[in-house]
This record gives sequence, structure tokens and C-alpha cells, in this order.
Amino acid sequence: MTAQIPNVINGRLVASTSGRTAPVYNPATGERTGTVGLSSAAEVAEAVAAARAALPAWADTPPLERARLMMAFRALLDAHKDELARVIGAEHGKVLDDAMGEVLRGIENVEYACGIPELLKGDHSRNVGPHIDLYTLRQPIGVCAGITPFNFPAMVPMWMYPNAIACGNTFVLKPSERDPSASLFVCELFREAGFPDGVLNVVHGDKEAVDALLTHPDVASVSFVGSTPVAEYIYATGAAHGKRVQALGGAKNHMVIMPDADMDTAVDALMGAAYGSAGERCMAVAVAVPVGEGTADALVSRLAPRVESLKIGPYTDPAAQMGPLVTRAHYDKVKGYIDLGVAEGAELLVDGRGFTLQGYENGFFLGGSLFDRVTPDMRLYRDEIFGPVLSTVRAADFEAAVDLVHGHEYANGVAIFTRDGDSAREFADRIQVGMVGINVAIPVPVAYHGFGGWKRSLFGGSPIYGPEGIQFFTRLKTVTERWPTGIRGGARFHFGGTGDH
Ligand code: NAD
Repeated sequence: MTAQIPNVINGRLVASTSGRTAPVYNPATGERTGTVGLSSAAEVAEAVAAARAALPAWADTPPLERARLMMAFRALLDAHKDELARVIGAEHGKVLDDAMGEVLRGIENVEYACGIPELLKGDHSRNVGPHIDLYTLRQPIGVCAGITPFNFPAMVPMWMYPNAIACGNTFVLKPSERDPSASLFVCELFREAGFPDGVLNVVHGDKEAVDALLTHPDVASVSFVGSTPVAEYIYATGAAHGKRVQALGGAKNHMVIMPDADMDTAVDALMGAAYGSAGERCMAVAVAVPVGEGTADALVSRLAPRVESLKIGPYTDPAAQMGPLVTRAHYDKVKGYIDLGVAEGAELLVDGRGFTLQGYENGFFLGGSLFDRVTPDMRLYRDEIFGPVLSTVRAADFEAAVDLVHGHEYANGVAIFTRDGDSAREFADRIQVGMVGINVAIPVPVAYHGFGGWKRSLFGGSPIYGPEGIQFFTRLKTVTERWPTGIRGGARFHFGGTGDH
């Protein structure tokens, strides 16, 4: 008997009656642990109606009161963070350190949203004309929708709904159907914090539920994080239906290692960035770009033994550094790319394909893989693999490394490791990528700065949290007002004599 994972509509747990379901697995054992209903358009419409009904009172609630509820939510998240990390590990497979990292980075977005009274303060200009003043308001946009990927089942939704709700909007979240329980867990804490029913709703589902959100006339905005083909579809369809859309897509992040880089630091950073969370991170480093043959030889000779000795295990093993992949289908896909890389002529230095773990033979475990002498024409290089597979592309010099990065369709994150401030500065200025790390392999901005890639890693132009998030979830209004002077004349300001200047 597997757990049935319900929707949350208007503060109530509601089982989907669509008749369509999807299985949920424990990736470490391969066992089916749950069943999630795939909601129909009618069920999505119920969630939107609940959000729409809750909207007027919530939009009218003073920002300070909204912030207090957010603070209570933050305290509950903090109190339950260990449980939440286990819920994530059980369905996603990532080890507890990674799951806890996700929870803590997610909470930072809730903390940012706690500052909403300050964040919503407008501008005021006095005397823009004779007796004319101007001020700005940031007002809520309405019912906001969020559609999220499997790889950060708690954090990525927290990139969206805390800011949206703090701004006075209500929200409908459609989480990944592959690991839906984290959203349910968090939604329960949200209710316990005291938010009114209908402010945050969760509907599970697939394309049918997503399409219902994209076309519903009462949905004002769509925030999407997931793969590029779906992001592009979400952007086009949402925009065609008059919605504000931010759609973050896939990635293939490069890390350039200059000849003067501290090699131990670079290797340590690459191990975490390429193999952490089994490479299922949109900011994972998938391509190492050592500059010069000597740098390349030094890099791969140090990396290979580290990749071979990665400690792989279930999330319940505190010593494990890397867990399994999320599903059998994803395992097959990633393994297929290793086969392809070999067929394309890349040099496979470490082969993760034969990995098995005693007692977990049915789990979706793949060992870490390391390729050398990968070239830009290979699909191994071009496609997003989203697994523990690192490709090394050797670059002759700095310019060749920059050209390589520029030739890729994705531009989410990039890093350079060097001791030379001049190269680092030039790289940061010139590189056509949204998030740049200098001796930082995974440059995910903190919650008070926007997150977003360039090119085919982001559609709609709006980064997703921080000040850009507040802008996305509000409409700007400017009020220009004239109050003609009446009977009072004379000087309007008095100077001098009081010592108060
Ligand atoms: P995905 O695109 O398969 O799914 C994302 C969401 O879209 C899910 O909720 C899913 O149900 C829905 N969806 C899937 N197919 C759909 C379709 N045809 N029509 C409408 N909706 C559909 O992504 P995923 O495999 O869950 O997540 C991994 C991807 O997410 C990777 O490409 C990764 O790079 C990307 N990602 C990007 C960022 C970023 O910030 N740019 C962050 C995390 C993940």
C-alpha cells in the first residue's frame, strides 16, 4: 500500500479524482512509495478559484502583518528542517547534507520576504511641477502560479511563493510529480503559521495541469523553473494568454581553470560542483575547461582518483557524498549519454556505469564519470545531461575558453579559477552568462540578489528572486498629484536663527 499524495486547495487536503496517477519512488531502493494524482483542468480551476477568493482580503492585509506570518512560517521551517530534509531525501535521493543545504537556501528566501514592508516602500518626488508631487506604489498582481522541477523540491518553490505572497498575491503551486511530498510538508507548516486558507494552494499534475494554469483567465503570472524545451513552451503559451511569465530553463555550466589557479582548490570545488546532488543541479558544473595542456594534465590526474573514490549511498547514510538519480528513466538517460560519449570518441577516464551498492541493487545509483578530450561538436558536450558526468574540454588559451563558453546555447552559470585579478575581471566583464563565479564554482546568488541565466537558460527576462522577484510579483503605479495652494501665500521655507541646521 503506497501513500496517496493529495492536493491542498483552500487549506484542505483533497485527493485528485481525475483518475490519472503517477508513481513516486524511493530512488535509493527503487521501491514505489507513493502515488500522486495528476490533476485535471477542473481541479486546477478549483485551486485558482480558492486563490482568487482569498485575494482581496490578503491584498488588503498590511505588509507588516503579512511579514509577521512569514516570520512565523520561517520559525516553523527552522524547527522542522531535519524532517523536511528527510522528506526530500526519500523522494529525490540526494544525501542529507545536500537536502539540508537546499532547505537552508530556501529559508533564506522566506527571510528576505519577511522584509516586505521595507521592500514595498515606494519613491516620492516633491514638486515635479508647480504644486505637483509624484509617488509610486507597488501593488499585487493577483493569482500567481508556480511550476517547479524535481531537483529542488523545497527550495525552488521558495524562490517563488514567499515573495509573491508577501507582496499581497495568492499562489497556486504545481510541483514536480516526481517528488511531490516536500511541497505538501511545507504547505502544512505554512497553514500552521496562520496564513488564511486559499493564499497558498498546491495542485499536483503533469502537462494537463500546467496547461490549465497557462490558459486560466484568473492567473496573472507564471513562474517556471525546469528544462529549456518546457520553459520555452511555458513562456510562449503564457505570454499568448496575456500573463506575465518568467521561465528559467536548462544549463551546461563551464568552469575555466587558468594555469595559475590553485589546483587543489579547483579540484575540491569541481568535486562538489560536478557530483554534488548527483549532478542534478541547474548550477552544476558539467564542463571543466583547463587552459593549456599542462593545466589539463594536472587537473585530470588529480580529479580521476577523487571521482573513483566518491562515497555513494542512500540519503540515510551520513557518510555518503552522492545519492542515486531520481528515477529509473533518468538513470537510463544519463547512462545513455556515457555510452554516447564513448561512441563519439571522448576519452572516458572514470566510468560510473558498472556501479552497484550492496543491499540497494534496485536503486538508481550511477557512479561518477569523468571524460577527457571532449570536443564542442559532441552531443556529450552540447546537451544537458543532468547527472554525475563531468566533461573536460581542453582550451589552448583564455580566448579559446571564452569562445567555447560563448558557443554554447545555455548561459546559466560559469566560473573561472585563477589567482590573477586582471583575467578574472576581464572574464566577469566579457562573459555572456547570467551568473559568474570567480574562484566560486557554484555562484548561486543569495536571496537578496536576483537569480537568472542568459540566452536559452531564461525566457522572459526576469530573474527569479531578490529585488527582481519583488518587481515581478508587483505592478508599478505612479500617482502624480496636484494640490493648488489656496489662500496661503508667502515664503514656504524658513531659514536661519534656530540653530537646527
Ligand atoms: P521538466 O522541465 O521536466 O519539469 C519541470 C516542470 O514542468 C514539472 O513541474 C513538470 O511537471 C512540468 N512539465 C514537464 N513536461 C511538461 C510539458 N510538456 N508541458 C508542461 N509542463 C511540463 O524539468 P525537471 O526534469 O523536473 O527538472 C530538471 C530541469 O530543470 C533541468 O533542465 C534543469 O537545468 C532545470 N532547472 C533549471 C533551474 C534554473 O534556475 N535555471 C533550476 C532548477 C532546475
